[in-house]
Amino acid sequence: MKFGGTSVADAARLKRAAGRIVAKREQGFRVVAVLSARGKETDRLIADALEVSPVPDPREMDMLLSTGERVSCALCAMAINDLGHRAISLTGSQAGIVTDTSHTKARILEVRADRIRSALDEDSIVLVAGFQGVSTAKDVTTLGRGGSDTTAVALAAAIGADECEIYTDVPGVFSADPRIVPDARKLDVVSFDEMLEMAASGAGVLQLRSVEYARTHGVRIHCRSSFDDSEGTRVASEDARRDQDMENPLITAVTHSRGEARVTLIGLPDSPGIAGRVTTALAASNVNIDMIIQNEPRSAGALAELSFTVPQDDVAAAQAALAPIASELGIEVDTDDAMGKVSIVGAGMKSHPGVAAKVFTVLGEHEINIEMISTSPIRISCVVPGDKVADAVKALHSAFELQGADTIRPEQPFGEFS
Ligand code: ADP
Ligand code: ASP
Ligand code: MG
Repeated sequence: MKFGGTSVADAARLKRAAGRIVAKREQGFRVVAVLSARGKETDRLIADALEVSPVPDPREMDMLLSTGERVSCALCAMAINDLGHRAISLTGSQAGIVTDTSHTKARILEVRADRIRSALDEDSIVLVAGFQGVSTAKDVTTLGRGGSDTTAVALAAAIGADECEIYTDVPGVFSADPRIVPDARKLDVVSFDEMLEMAASGAGVLQLRSVEYARTHGVRIHCRSSFDDSEGTRVASEDARRDQDMENPLITAVTHSRGEARVTLIGLPDSPGIAGRVTTALAASNVNIDMIIQNEPRSAGALAELSFTVPQDDVAAAQAALAPIASELGIEVDTDDAMGKVSIVGAGMKSHPGVAAKVFTVLGEHEINIEMISTSPIRISCVVPGDKVADAVKALHSAFELQGADTIRPEQPFGEFS
């Protein structure tokens, strides 16, 4: 069972999470629970760091950020003990989560779950601090924003859990972010392929790596509300998905992300090897690039332009990584960090022409300028100005008629709307 930040934000919610964990134990299950930092604690810790250092040292950043989830686990263990059950809280390191050394976005290499297993054998409920591990160099690491989902899936895989339940502040995975589209439809089942595309294109309800990990290790994910007992969304293999509803829907969801930045390299010499050098420098600094566009100069001897998108948080690292190449080759580096991205995802679009045309037409009709485009067999993404993202999501969701029968009413407890 994994509880996100909103689900443990204050004492009442933390006790409610403790109550749900205990109820599960009393049904006869052995429970490992992963908790996130409370409320906006991680944002607060990041702001604290930026107050004392503009580009904080990544190792120290991880020491700082990992504290948030420890607090949640210790408090929850106290609450569970008061309910007459035995609970033990563990840091990621104590829980045996071993990662690589990429501070602030480490990857899990291995889970040595013997301590969890022995605690379960002693009839304890085990609480594990999400979003963190210990590196092969024995330093504390964190797994990137939203990383507690990945902790939960990795532990589920390591202990062979029946299911990995992700308890969050919405009732499941929807056809769009319900905070932008109130009549979005809750999806009962979503395939791994679609969920991977959704997570990669901004549906932060599940961290991308958690979905990748679940697919590789065959973990069953059930993403559901921490406020009630309703059935949420199951992420299932393509076969299980097909058994449910014979045909793939054309479009499953509209996703978006706001924190995009576009970096443009102006005046690139048009010669072999340049794109390779640029992307190698970015990869060496651990900067993830998303869409890439290069336009070839039309006339001989002219200079090329290369644009790509990166998460806004990575702009400083990208600039630093590119500086030596830029000065060597006399390139100008231009950044625009007010970009957003809107995407449609659906396995059915593989066999239906005309979907892209409809996306572009709808955005055009709403006066939304498309800055960059990328596609996969089951996704079409457009970079749009950041202030147009919500309009673009609403327009596409309604044009593809994705709304559900059960409109989500505002009185439903979604936690704080941000
Ligand atoms: P937690 O703290 O529980 O991990 P997150 O904030 O990480 O919660 O993820 C839940 C949020 O994801 C929801 O509150 C919702 O606003 C957002 N979200 C974005 N896209 C979707 C989607 N397609 N379906 C459901 N929620 C979504
Ligand atoms: N607390 C971390 C974050 O806010 C990890 C998580 O909640 O999953 O990103
Ligand atoms: Mg999350």
